[in-house]
Order: sequence, then structure tokens, then C-alpha cells
Amino acid sequence: MLINRRSLFGAAAVAVGSLISGREVFASQTDQKQWDIVVVGAGGAGLSAAVHAANSGLSVLVLEKTSAVGGSTLMSSGQWAVAGSRFQRDLGIEDTRELFIQDMLNFGKRMNDPSLVQAFVDASKIEYEWILAHGVSPRYLIANAGMSVPRAHFFEPKEVLDLYTRQLTRMNVPIRFNSPAHRLFFDPKNKRINGVYVTYNNKKALVRARLGVILATGGFARNKNLLKKYAPACSEAFVLCGKGSTGDGMIMAQEFGADLLDMAYIQPTYGYLPHPESSRDKTSAFYAGGIIVNRAGRRFINESLSYKTIGALALQQPEGRTYIVFDDLIRRQALTKDPRERQYIGEQGKAHRGFVAASIRELAAKAGINADVLQQTVSLYNETAPFGKDILGRQTLTYTYGKPLPITEPPFVAIEASAALLTTYCGLHVNPLMNVVNVFGEEIHGLYAAGEVTGGVHGASSVSGTGFAKAFAMGRIAVEALKAQI
Ligand SMILES: Cc1cc2nc3c(=O)[nH]c(=O)nc-3n(C[C@H](O)[C@H](O)[C@H](O)COP(=O)(O)OP(=O)(O)OC[C@H]3O[C@@H](n4cnc5c(N)ncnc54)[C@H](O)[C@@H]3O)c2cc1C
Repeated sequence: MLINRRSLFGAAAVAVGSLISGREVFASQTDQKQWDIVVVGAGGAGLSAAVHAANSGLSVLVLEKTSAVGGSTLMSSGQWAVAGSRFQRDLGIEDTRELFIQDMLNFGKRMNDPSLVQAFVDASKIEYEWILAHGVSPRYLIANAGMSVPRAHFFEPKEVLDLYTRQLTRMNVPIRFNSPAHRLFFDPKNKRINGVYVTYNNKKALVRARLGVILATGGFARNKNLLKKYAPACSEAFVLCGKGSTGDGMIMAQEFGADLLDMAYIQPTYGYLPHPESSRDKTSAFYAGGIIVNRAGRRFINESLSYKTIGALALQQPEGRTYIVFDDLIRRQALTKDPRERQYIGEQGKAHRGFVAASIRELAAKAGINADVLQQTVSLYNETAPFGKDILGRQTLTYTYGKPLPITEPPFVAIEASAALLTTYCGLHVNPLMNVVNVFGEEIHGLYAAGEVTGGVHGASSVSGTGFAKAFAMGRIAVEALKAQI
């Protein structure tokens, strides 16, 4: 089911109705009103920050440049990576904080900041428990990229966002829609960021924030210039993310010398079907045992690697076209591992948006793959990978989990898939309190950041479910830090 963005905005607009009626006087009023905290961006990170600020008795204003809450968070698959949950325990899965931290550091090739990873892992657990305590639960749990045990708890993102907007309504916290923030205000008297300039109703206004500003503006996958600068290989990739993901917060903070982290590791996500319209248009059948081949019928990567690493190489294949190939045993395994696969491969002998055949040769002919080469590729894989001798080094299904299977049981399936750029997962250097740090390693007083606008948590590659969780978890941490200043 596609998420209805309008319905969420409708709900939020009704929820904050009394506040929206105050729009007309906003530009003049804000010049006088001083908030404790101003949050820029109403995605997961911004809403979390606003809720925790208001719950702590602080006055908080949320500025959102689009007409709705949600950003990329609303479009997300809703995977929340957390270790030691009750959900895991009930399924007999043993997991610990330490194992999660090790997985993130190893998967990030130790390019991530260990203190940030630890802060994230701890806050992710606290925020996850907070959500559960407020009546919203994940639907299922799987092992995904970068996990040595199943740790990706799947929420319905709209349910999570609705929980936060309901809280904001209850506490009368204003969200100002259609209000893009442009620049930060540095107060020379107390030498800190004490506000933000915003446009509302074609008027510019300065909104003041006594304790500080939290940038929660998301990533920059929709900013072609920034992509050309930091990730030229992705600048022509298909983009699927919130329309506000244009890097505004990162640029605003750079005016004050903000350092940037993880910029070299922007990668697209593999597994999207051609012309995806939502996060649902995706398959991860390769993590259940499928192999990935190009149109020449050749494998080009160890399929157990991160879907980001796979995505970067997939874009380099001829015409950027690749196929996930598997047999009926793997099809059934994929269904057990991830219920989302049902929409494409739920029935034996059928593959919605894919090809099915009784032999590998016939499959290749239907899909337009070189048949001789694909036959050789599958035969070689069957003779090597299940015995730990894969020429591309595949030893597992995903990360350290599962064992490769031979592709022998008809009917065989081929699904065309590609890479789409969903996230940038890099940006502002923050310390473990989410205070933005300048290029000399000094805190920029009064300036905080949370969510996808930040770098340093993922390093060279992101563990699945850490982006969605990071948004909500970091919003909480930033508020705790600002509270401590009172
Ligand atoms: C299709 C898709 C699937 C994904 N699936 C997963 C997943 O399953 N698990 C996972 O961990 N991660 C996933 N991610 C990534 C993850 O969801 C995001 O990184 C995270 O939710 C970002 O949250 P955020 O609050 O930082 O940013 P966003 O949710 O993007 O919110 C940022 C908000 O700031 C607003 N804004 C921007 N600039 C301004 C400005 N100048 N003034 C005012 N407002 C502004 C934007 O309009 C937006 O509303 C997915 C992402 C996508 C796109």
C-alpha cells in the first residue's frame, strides 16, 4: 500500500489547527517572541526534538519548508535498528549493545566516530522503548545489511510520525509550514547561534531561539550541485526521497565554519525496480540467496555486501541494468525473511515485474540476458559458493548471516533491479551531544543538528535501519544537551 502523504498532512493540519490559524501574524510576532528552541525541519529528527523539548517544558517552534510533515522519514521503509529488544528476545535472538556497536564500526570500515556510534546506539534503544510505551509497535524483524543478527524492526513510518504529531498537538507546539529557513543568526553579544531567518507568506523574519537552533533538514539527494560536488558518480542516479532534501541545513551551518564528515561515502541503494515511485518498489531477494548479474550474464559483486556498495557498482554496469536471479527455494526463503517480497514473488511460477522460466537458458532469453554466459555463471556459482569457494568471496547471505545456496530448483526467476539515491547520510560534524563542530574541532555554540543532515555515524557504509532510528534518536539527544544548559 502506498503511503498517502496528503492524509498525514491532513491529520497534522487538523492536529495543529489552532496553531495554523496564527499564521497571518507570524512574521511580525516572531520578531518579538523568543523561543527556547527553534527546530528547522519537520521530519523524524525535527519532530522528535520538538516532542522531547516540549515534554521538558521548553517552548519550541518547528519550521518546515514544505506543506507537510514527514520528509524522507515518511517515505522510508521504516526499519529501526535496535539491539536487545523484547521483539528479538521473544524470537530467541540474542543481541547486545556491544555487538551492535561492533557491527556499525566494522560495516562503516571504522571511518565512523565511535563516540557518535555509541551515543546513537544507546539513544536508539531509549527512543524505541519510548515509541513502544506510547502504543506503536514494529510489525516484523529481519536481518539486513550490516547485521550479524536480525535487528531491523519494521515500523509503519506514518504510524510513528502520527504519534509524534499527536504529542505536539496535545502540547500545543506550533509547526509553521511553507516556512523555509535560509540563514542562521549569530548573536555577537553572547557569541552563539540564537536564531534563524525564515520566509513566511513572502515576508522574511528573524525567529529567535534562546537556547539554540536544531537543524533537522535531512539530506541533499535532491540538490544536483551538491551531488556534482561531493558524489559525481551519483549525480545522474534516480532520486527517491523527500522533496525538501536539498541540503539547506548543511549549507547554513557551513557559513559558521561547520566541519563535514562522511562526504566521500555517498552511495545509492541497490534493489529498486526500474522507475520506482515509493520505497515499496524494491526487492532484497539477493540477501536471501539470489545472485546479481549484468546483461552480459556476469556477476560483478559479492551479493552479501551492503546494498550501498552493490548500488555503486550496479550503476557502473552497461546501461546501468542488472538482474537478481534465483530459484524456487530461494524465492520461498526470501518470503520468510521479508514479507515485503510477497508483492513480487509471492506465488510459485509468477513474478510480478520479473521473469519466470523452467530453465536458466529460457530465463535468460526472456529477460534479455546473454544465455550462454548466465548458464556458466550459475553453474560456477553452484559448484563454488555453497562450499565456501565463491570467486567473488560470498560466504554468507547478508553480512555475517546465512549460507549461500545453490540455484537449482525450478522455476527460476529474474527481476531487473537498479540503484536509486535515497539518502546522503553524511554532512555536519556533530559531537555526541549533537552540537555542531567547526573545522577546528570547536563547538559552534547554540547550533545543534540531528538526523540525515549529520555525518559521522555511518562511516563508509550504513547498517540498515540506522538512518530512520538515527533521526528520532538524535532529536532526543540534542534536546537533552540543550536542557543541560539551563
Ligand atoms: C525511500 C526511502 C526509504 C528509506 N528506508 C529507510 C529504512 O528503512 N531504514 C532506515 O534506517 N533509513 C531509511 N531511509 C532513510 C531515513 O528514512 C532518513 O535518513 C531519515 O528518516 C531522515 O530523517 P530526517 O528527519 O533527518 O530528514 P527528513 O525526514 O527528510 O526531514 C527533513 C525535513 O526538513 C525539511 N527542510 C529541509 N530544508 C528546510 C529548510 N530550509 N527550512 C525548513 N524545513 C526544511 C524538509 O522539507 C523535511 O520535511 C529511507 C529513505 C528513503 C528516502
